[in-house]
Amino acid sequence: MDRVVVIGGGATAALAAIRLAERGLRVTVVEKAAAGNGSSSRSNAGIRAQFGVEATAIGMMYSEWWYARFHDLLATPDERRQPVIHQNGYLFLYEDPDQAAPPWQPSIRASAAAVWERGQRYAAMHRRIGLPVELLAPDAVHARWPHIAPDRLIGATYCPTDGFLEPHIILGEGYRRTRELGVEVLTQAEVIGATLRGGRIERIETTRGALEADWFVNATNAWAPRVSRRIGGMPLPIAPTKRYLYFLKMREPVMSAEAWAGQPMTIYGLGAGRGALSRPDGPQLCLAWAHETPPEPEFGDADQDRIDAPFHHERGIENYGYATLAQLADFAPRLADAGGLAATTSGFYGMTPDADPLIGRDTQQENLIHAAGFSGHGLMHAPITAVLVEAILCGDVADGRVALPAPFERHSITLATFDPGRDFASSHAEALVL
Ligand SMILES: Cc1cc2nc3c(=O)[nH]c(=O)nc-3n(C[C@H](O)[C@H](O)[C@H](O)COP(=O)(O)OP(=O)(O)OC[C@H]3O[C@@H](n4cnc5c(N)ncnc54)[C@H](O)[C@@H]3O)c2cc1C
Repeated sequence: MDRVVVIGGGATAALAAIRLAERGLRVTVVEKAAAGNGSSSRSNAGIRAQFGVEATAIGMMYSEWWYARFHDLLATPDERRQPVIHQNGYLFLYEDPDQAAPPWQPSIRASAAAVWERGQRYAAMHRRIGLPVELLAPDAVHARWPHIAPDRLIGATYCPTDGFLEPHIILGEGYRRTRELGVEVLTQAEVIGATLRGGRIERIETTRGALEADWFVNATNAWAPRVSRRIGGMPLPIAPTKRYLYFLKMREPVMSAEAWAGQPMTIYGLGAGRGALSRPDGPQLCLAWAHETPPEPEFGDADQDRIDAPFHHERGIENYGYATLAQLADFAPRLADAGGLAATTSGFYGMTPDADPLIGRDTQQENLIHAAGFSGHGLMHAPITAVLVEAILCGDVADGRVALPAPFERHSITLATFDPGRDFASSHAEALVL
């Protein structure tokens, strides 16, 4: 029986370990701290199939299906079955170019027009692959979600199978299931080196001793370049980049409790200067924005929760929290006015040059597979990542493609899209990075 060591203790490692153990492999998971030490417990937890790269859209269609059956697939005991996915949908709002900026700022208007044209093109692709994506006129958006003002909009796309996840349940039940399947989960075991022979990793060294195996999977996301370097692997172009979340505490109700809980993940425009998003998080509204921060390749664990001054909502109103709220106010003024910013949290994205993950074989060590660099999408990716890792490791690849399991067998994913050694100058860049 082949032995596999999966490095990392997040969602990717958990779901990959489950698949590999179900396949009959002997699996060990090695985590340097405790399960959930990384981004998996710091995420906005959105899940959407509305991506620009077709392979990702197909993969997320599978992930949504998988998470909707999570407890059955992981044999969760009945008394522990809490909802793990809320399929409230993802609503991408597109701004009317004439509203986006005054006539003397034509580039902002042009940007709003271009993203709306792209949004309609993507919706056509999504429908072709079988996603129930709707194109909505401004009045139809307002009729369904009365807190969204229609006058600012040119249209919207909505996919009802999208939504958001519960990361603590994915981690909790994921690691319960790994142990049930006989996976050894070693925590407080940092991978610090490796013994190499003939283009292969013979064993890895950890702070809790050496581990021999036939295969090694690097599932350490933002740490993956460092881990790869330590075990003789290729340089990985993953930039650990801080991202922040804001929490709006409501002073007064703006809709019924049912409407509140049913709010979709809503993206308030995608043109220049836009990209804020919100979703309900219990009684609060969770807000995010794809702001720019410099890469921190040598970040430490504590840096994950470090809130830099320009991002801290308590540092006056000159910070990204208020800038995010201002975007919400442009599209949903009643919602923005009824709450106050109550908290800021953060974590690291593992950004790649084209914003697509690196899933595939290392170019230096033939028994090393990377599954990392998920930008803001690793939690939703985890089920399809696990399928791809299993296929690569077990050789279930035909003509460079991996066929999806039933009921998606008419679909396949080209591994070249996610190959860690791909040429980023000519790869398909993901445009919808949130
Ligand atoms: C603010 C924010 C919002 C996000 N929003 C979303 C979203 O809406 N939807 C979505 O899908 N994703 C989102 N993400 C991204 C998502 O959280 C990550 O892509 C995903 O959690 C990555 O999971 P992972 O298991 O690959 O890595 P991680 O959860 O980061 O786990 C990696 C693990 O590797 C361990 N490790 C590191 N070095 C070593 C070593 N040398 N030896 C042993 N172990 C080691 C770490 O301790 C860590 O536990 C968001 C992220 C952030 C920060």
